[in-house]
Parts: sequence; C-alpha cells; structure tokens
Amino acid sequence: MLKTDVLIIGGGLAGLSCAYHLQRSHQKVSTLVLEKEKRVGGLAGSLQHDGFTFDHTGHLLHLHDPYGKKLILDLLKDNFYLRNRNSWIYSHGAYTRYPFQANTYGLPPRVVEACVVGFLKTLRNGGQALPSSLSFKSWALSTFGEGICKHFMFPYNEKLWRVPLNSMTTEWQGRFVPKPKPEEVLYGALTDQKKFFGYNATFRYPKRGGSQSLPDALARRVKNIHLGAQVTAIDLNQRVAEIDGIGEVGFETLVNTMPLVHFLDKTKGLPQVVRSARADLRYTSVYCLNLGIARSSISDKHWIYFPEKQFNFYRAGFSTNFSPHIAPRGATAMYIEVSGIPGQKFEFDREESRVLEGLRSCGILKSKDRLLTKLWMPIPCAYVIYDRERARAARTIFSYLKDHRAESIGRYGAWKYSFMEEAILDGKRCAERILGVSDVSLKLSSSNIELQALK
Ligand SMILES: Cc1cc2nc3c(=O)[nH]c(=O)nc-3n(C[C@H](O)[C@H](O)[C@H](O)COP(=O)(O)OP(=O)(O)OC[C@H]3O[C@@H](n4cnc5c(N)ncnc54)[C@H](O)[C@@H]3O)c2cc1C
Repeated sequence: MLKTDVLIIGGGLAGLSCAYHLQRSHQKVSTLVLEKEKRVGGLAGSLQHDGFTFDHTGHLLHLHDPYGKKLILDLLKDNFYLRNRNSWIYSHGAYTRYPFQANTYGLPPRVVEACVVGFLKTLRNGGQALPSSLSFKSWALSTFGEGICKHFMFPYNEKLWRVPLNSMTTEWQGRFVPKPKPEEVLYGALTDQKKFFGYNATFRYPKRGGSQSLPDALARRVKNIHLGAQVTAIDLNQRVAEIDGIGEVGFETLVNTMPLVHFLDKTKGLPQVVRSARADLRYTSVYCLNLGIARSSISDKHWIYFPEKQFNFYRAGFSTNFSPHIAPRGATAMYIEVSGIPGQKFEFDREESRVLEGLRSCGILKSKDRLLTKLWMPIPCAYVIYDRERARAARTIFSYLKDHRAESIGRYGAWKYSFMEEAILDGKRCAERILGVSDVSLKLSSSNIELQALK
C-alpha cells in the first residue's frame, strides 16, 4: 500500500497551496495530492472549447492580503491585466451602476423615490448597531430600507440563494455587501455617481489562459500530484483512503478540499451526531452557460446583475472584456449564471431558451447575432448557505475532524463563502498547522511585477 505523511484531497487552489508550502518547508514531510479531474484548478480552472477559453463564470482576482498578493503576482509574472470594475444592474429597463443601493440614478422617478425615502427612514434608529442575530432579510430591511429591498436586495438574493431570506444569517455578507453613507445614497439618486464601492473595485485577470493559468502556475511548483485520481472512501480510524484506479493510500494527516458534504458522505463510521450535523448543511448549485458570439465588443461592461423575475439568470458577464485573448478575433465570450436547487432536475434546453430570450429582450443580443458555440458548465456545489443551522453543524463536524487529525480547508472544505486568494491562504495556514510553525511565508521576488503590468 502507498503511504504518505500528508494526503491532500483535491488539486484546486487550496490543495495545491497546502502542498506547495509543505514541500518548500525545511521539515521533511511527504505529500500526495489526489485530483479527480484530468487537470488541476478545481473551480478556478478553465475549459478550452471551439477556440474559446471558458471559466466557471467570472473568476477575477481580488487581492487583499500582502502575502497572497505577492505569491499570486509571482505566479502570474506579467500575465495579467489590472482592471477597474465596470459592473451594472439591469432593472426597470435601465442600467444603473453597482451597487444598486448607492446608484439609483436612471431608474423611474417613483422607484428612486421609494429607494431614497425607504433608506432615509432607516436612519431613524440613529445609527445604532443592529443585533447580530437578525436574519439577512431583517438586516437588509433595517440597513437599506423598503425600496432598495423591494427593487434589488430581496429579488436578487432570492434568485441567487433559492431559500427564504429570513432563514439566512448575516455572517457571510461582511465585505460582500457594500453599505453606502446617506450622502452617497442621495448623491447617487441625483446624479451618475462614478465612485467605486465595495471590496472589488479593481480586479486582476490573466491575459492568456483564463483563470486556469493561476492553478497551472502553482501546480508547476508542486511535486506528487495525481490527476484522474478520485477518492471514493476514507477511513479516519485506519488512516486509509481508497482511490479509483490506484487502490489504498495510507496517511498520517489528511487534508480535504472537496465539498465537506461529499467528504463526509465518503467517510466511514461517522458517529450519529456528525451525520445529523452533515444533514443540516445546505448549498445552492450554479449552472453557467458560456456563449461565443460572432460579434466583437457586444458590451463595454464587465458584468451585469439581473434582479427581476422575468430573467431566469441572476448575472451575466463579458469575459472578453477581462482579456481579449480568450476568444477568437472578432468574437465575444460571455457567461450567464443561473442558480439551481441541488437534487432538483435542471432543464437545460428550457433554461437556455429563457436565457437567450432574456438577453434579446434587454438588447444585449441582437436578432441577427450568430452563436459560434455554447457550453454549459454546471457547478453542483457553488454557494454554501449561511442559515441558522450552519455554524452549529460546522462546529460539531470540525471538532470531530480535529480529533481525527483531519483538516478540511478551502471554500468548500471549510464550508464558507470565500474567494481564490483566500483558498491559497487557507492552504498556507493549513501547512503551518501541520508543521507546527507560525509562518511558512516563502521568499518571493515579484515587487516590480505590478508596475510592469500597469505600463
Ligand atoms: C459562481 C462562482 C463565482 C466565483 N467567482 C470568483 C471570483 O470572481 N473571484 C474569486 O477569487 N473567487 C471566485 N469564486 C470562488 C473560487 O472559485 C473559490 O474560492 C476557489 O476556487 C476554491 O478553491 P478550493 O481549492 O477551495 O476548491 P475547489 O476549486 O472546489 O477544489 C477542490 C478540488 O477537489 C477536487 N475533488 C472533488 N472531489 C474529489 C474526490 N472525490 N477525489 C479527488 N479530488 C476531488 C475537485 O475536482 C477540485 O479540483 C467563485 C465561485 C463561484 C461558485
């Protein structure tokens, strides 16, 4: 039987980063990364299709952490563009700038009035902190008011999350939902406010290769990655995993990055308390429809949110505006995101007709437009739902895993709402825990790269 000190399930960014940091340490620790697909990258990976490079919807780099930023820029070298976000909302037949709550200018006057008046009413509480126990629905109502909730917050979030918003907590929204000041809400109702709000005012995106180029660059620095190696069962007591086509692999420490629910389903002998905690974990699916269109620059925008029910999708983006090199010359690549409920049948043909109809009705596609190609890329486990059960269930599960020397990291392993940079940092922190050291930051030499790319 094959044996390794650390067995890492999943060759996405979290798994690769964990292996990279372990392998670069001075301690001699053997590692093995098992990835079920024939390529690394997980959700940050891309597919080549009819001359187009398609990602799993928009995968843009928002870099916040000094080490994360340095490592990512060191990996990409000068293969990236730095862009100012150009994102919009389409509702009431008009485009307004993101975020909706700060930019109602351009909507019908009655909608602007409802949004501003509703927001002003929320100020009556004198800016007192809201209780953290509020549901997302009550929090949004108290923070933004009735108008903004009616015209954006409620319909958009219901379409994305597919659960009643009063069953959701506010733990996830921190940096993801911008909260403008009163003067910004007023100014943005009266004029086309061009100010940037939110955590992702700028982003980076690879010039060539789509989002796949980041995990590919990381994987080039990692040894012992087995592709096409699907883990089918795990025994945490015997310290053995079963892998399709390989057989059994013994390990000292296990690092999981596959969705926690699937990992637990494959783990033998879980006690009842852990199994019932697992049954409380909820998530949504996303179905990403990629289109190649025979017309260049069909939009100047990066992505657009669609809160209204008449559209079956919640967001659509134009990847050729991230990088022109991901599509043949003269063509536009775009992606459309439709959310789904796990376990419910998704009618691809019906949803596709509705997508195309929606894109035509808002003028993005013209009747003469020719589709060069299309590709559905389903993401069965896309967004972890932060409902009232999640925190308690996660505590029970992680305490059990800790007692069995198993780590579960990354966006889906740790069962959270996060992004690519964080997945890389999760891998690094996990390596530090395994090695018993406080910092395994690597010496990197990329300080000039951003300046070079900006030239
Ligand atoms: C719709 C959507 C849009 C997003 N947009 C952005 C964005 O713009 N910017 C951003 O920074 N982040 C974005 N993200 C988040 C980003 O995709 C993730 O944070 C990151 O890619 C997670 O990496 P990971 O390694 O934790 O997980 P994953 O990428 O899911 O990696 C897990 C790996 O485990 C493998 N695996 C699963 N089961 C098995 C098994 N049984 N055996 C072996 N291997 C297995 C999988 O194939 C996969 O490669 C988005 C996510 C979604 C869903």
